Amino acid sequence: MTARPPHETLFTRIDDARDDLVALASDLIRIPTVNPPGDAYAACGELIGERLAKRGFAVEYLRAEGGIGDSDRYPRTNVVARIEGAAPGRCLHFNSHIDVVAPGAGWTVHPFAAEVRDGRIYGRGACDMKGGLAASIVAVEALLAAWPDFPGAIEISGTVDEETGGYAGVAWLAERGYFSPPRVDYVIIPEPLNKDCVCLGHRGVWWAEIEVQGRIAHGSMPFLGTSAIRGMGAFLDRLERDLYPALNQRRTAMPVIPDGARFSTLNLNSIHGGLDEVDDGFPSALVADSCRLVLDRRYLIEESEDEVRREILDLLEAVRAERPEFRYALRDLWSVPPVMTDADSDLVRALDRAIEAVLGRRARHVASPGTYDQKHVQRIGHLRDCVAYGPGILDLAHQPDEYVGIDDMVEAAKVMAAAAAELLSGGADGA
Ligand SMILES: [Zn+2]
Repeated sequence: MTARPPHETLFTRIDDARDDLVALASDLIRIPTVNPPGDAYAACGELIGERLAKRGFAVEYLRAEGGIGDSDRYPRTNVVARIEGAAPGRCLHFNSHIDVVAPGAGWTVHPFAAEVRDGRIYGRGACDMKGGLAASIVAVEALLAAWPDFPGAIEISGTVDEETGGYAGVAWLAERGYFSPPRVDYVIIPEPLNKDCVCLGHRGVWWAEIEVQGRIAHGSMPFLGTSAIRGMGAFLDRLERDLYPALNQRRTAMPVIPDGARFSTLNLNSIHGGLDEVDDGFPSALVADSCRLVLDRRYLIEESEDEVRREILDLLEAVRAERPEFRYALRDLWSVPPVMTDADSDLVRALDRAIEAVLGRRARHVASPGTYDQKHVQRIGHLRDCVAYGPGILDLAHQPDEYVGIDDMVEAAKVMAAAAAELLSGGADGA
């Protein structure tokens, strides 16, 4: 077995592959894998699989049959490619989601033409995250060419449905052992967190629906009923007076970006009360007997889901103490606990050193305000050594005129290749 290649060898190969990297990212963008509904997954998976098969990877196409969202019209097909090294060792896995959100309005370029202009590739998914996927493929190809008898194993996957929770994608694969030791030791998710940042994890989420229940009556005699809308109003007032000021005081030690997301947050997603039925624009004369609120509470690693839920229940009880007729029901909709990888882990340190080698500056450690597929790797796969690292600016994700910078892709590919070489060789001083 030969020693791992020096950085310069890898970096030269990646510079030489610049046009190929642009072509690959563009080809990926041109396949409109819009989710929902989950279009063209098979075509996108095949593009990845056929390319990697030519480089010696064993390629599996794994349809999440019976999984959430899967149908013959919209099959949830994931691709997982693996190449074994010349000797036993660690396995490094690059996981990218292949789905993109709908383009929406406001584009000045065609969202699926992958137009190249001023050093950028434009298109839906350019930054989130086909640019990162292409960078990881080119990084691994450069490493394989420079180090054909590398130890360990490398995997690259293209998975579905991250934008809708990842249940037929990473979660489905994790349930089948694809993201667990001993098969895999390290996972890098090339989400667009910026080329100088290692993303260690994300905050927690708790979604719930609260229904305030009233009593219907004629609108001309509201004193005969109980307005669910007024009851909800009293609860909203409690949120404003008691909860929001408290949340603004809670700052996490996790390096969440942007800075506003270092605090606990609460979004009121939707509110709906009373009957909508209008006859020629004329409302019914009714006291509202129901008012529903959906809330999205993002919580910190220092908080627990139980505490977060209890805090809301306490406020509802406080309203009830003031208004004897106040009745409510609370329903949990969805939750994900916070996750964070240890900043001193081999994986993070390898990326830190690679970022310094490529960019000449220290890596920043960040955490994401929202969740991504790392949750499934950690919670279902029980693999803690998972981070996000990839090119592109997070703010551009899901926006019109989304783009990825070509230099950013090239530099991120160099970071990925250098980190991969270190991780496979077993450390900074490895053979
Ligand atoms: Zn993404």
